[in-house]
Amino acid sequence: MPATPPSPAAPELIFAPVGIAHLTHDNTDLLRAAARDKQRLRVTTAAQLNGTPHIGTVVTVLSVFAVAARAADVLDLPTTVIFDALDNAPAEQIDIDGETYTRTVGDLIDTGHLDRADRVSGFERLLRWAAARSRVRYEFRPYSIYQALPPVRACLHAMASRLEDFRSIVAPADGIVRIRPRCPQCRLMEKSAKNLSIIAGDGVVHLDSPCPVHGRYRETIDITGSDGWYDANTPVRSIQKGFLLSAERDLYQACSVSVDGADWGGAWHAHVLAPALATLGIPAADWPVSVFTPLVLDRSGGKLSKSLYVRYGAAYADLPEAFLNLEVLLDQHGDNALDAIWTEVTRWTAEPRRLHRSYTVDYLANLIRTPASDPVLDQRSA
Ligand SMILES: [Zn+2]
Repeated sequence: MPATPPSPAAPELIFAPVGIAHLTHDNTDLLRAAARDKQRLRVTTAAQLNGTPHIGTVVTVLSVFAVAARAADVLDLPTTVIFDALDNAPAEQIDIDGETYTRTVGDLIDTGHLDRADRVSGFERLLRWAAARSRVRYEFRPYSIYQALPPVRACLHAMASRLEDFRSIVAPADGIVRIRPRCPQCRLMEKSAKNLSIIAGDGVVHLDSPCPVHGRYRETIDITGSDGWYDANTPVRSIQKGFLLSAERDLYQACSVSVDGADWGGAWHAHVLAPALATLGIPAADWPVSVFTPLVLDRSGGKLSKSLYVRYGAAYADLPEAFLNLEVLLDQHGDNALDAIWTEVTRWTAEPRRLHRSYTVDYLANLIRTPASDPVLDQRSA
C-alpha cells in the first residue's frame, strides 16, 4: 500500500444532518431534565477485561470522562465516573462430551492462571490519566461487587420471577435466559445454559446447573444479601444496569448517565434495553440518560475490533499494532497520543454534530501523528 503523505492537521470534516444534533445546542442538553433538582452526577461505563485496551476502547474511556467533565461544568454538579470492570468475561473454553464450558477472567486470576496486572493495568493506566486530565474522580467496580449490589439483585429477582416476559427480549433467537452459576468446586460454567433452571423464591433466586465433573449443583442468590454469585450475560447485565441507574436517582439523589459506544444505541437500545425497562415498569422519567460515543471504524466501515485483528492479523484492515494495543501506542507516541485524542473528544462532547457521527481509524491516525517522527506511517508503509 503506498504511503499517504503526512498531514499537518486533521482533515476537514463534513457533517451530514443528523436528527438529534438538531435538537440540542450542547450535548449536556440531553441530561438537563434528568439532572433537575439532583445533587450529583454519576456517569457509568463498562468494559470487558479481555486484554490491553485498543484505540476504540481508549476513545470510549476518554469520551466518558470528557462527557462527565463537560456535564459537571455546565450543570455545576459534583461528578463521579463508575467504571464497571467486567472480569466475568470468558477467558477459557473447554469442550466436554460435546458441550462447551467456560471459566471467567476473574476465576483464572483467582487461581493464578492469569496475571491480574496483564488484564487490569492497561485500563488502570488509562483511567488514572483520564481522571487527572478531566479532574473527574472515578471508581473501579469489579463484576463481583456489581452483581451483589441490592438494586442489581432486585432486578435479577424481578426477571427470574417473570421469565416468560423476558425470554424474547434477552434471547430472541432461542429464548434461553442466561443467568449462569459456576460449579462451586471447579468453577466451570455451562456456556449454552440449556440445562440451567432459574427458580425465583422468597427473597432468593435458585440457579441449578450441571458440572461435567461434579454433577448437578444449586447456587442460591440472596436478594437482600451478598451470598451467591452468578454470571449475567450481556443483555441481562445491560437491563440490570438500567434498573440500577434508575434506582440511583433516589438512592444517591443522582442524575445517572450511561456512556457507551454507539453500538449500544440503535438496535440494542430499541430491542433490548427500552422494552426491558418498560416491562420492569420503570417510568420513562426515571430511565437513565444514555449518551453514545462515536464508533471508531476500520477501513471497511466496520467497528474496530481487537478480536478480528487477533483472528485475521495483518489482513485485518492493515492496521498498525499501535491501534490495537494501548501499550504499543504509548511506547511509540507517549502521552502525546492521549493528549491528541483528549483534545479531539472534548470537541465531540461540546458539539452535538461531532458527537453523533463515527470516525475512521485513519482520521484518528492523523490526529496522533506528529510531523517530526512518524512511526505509525513508517510501520504502515514498511
Ligand atoms: Zn465442577
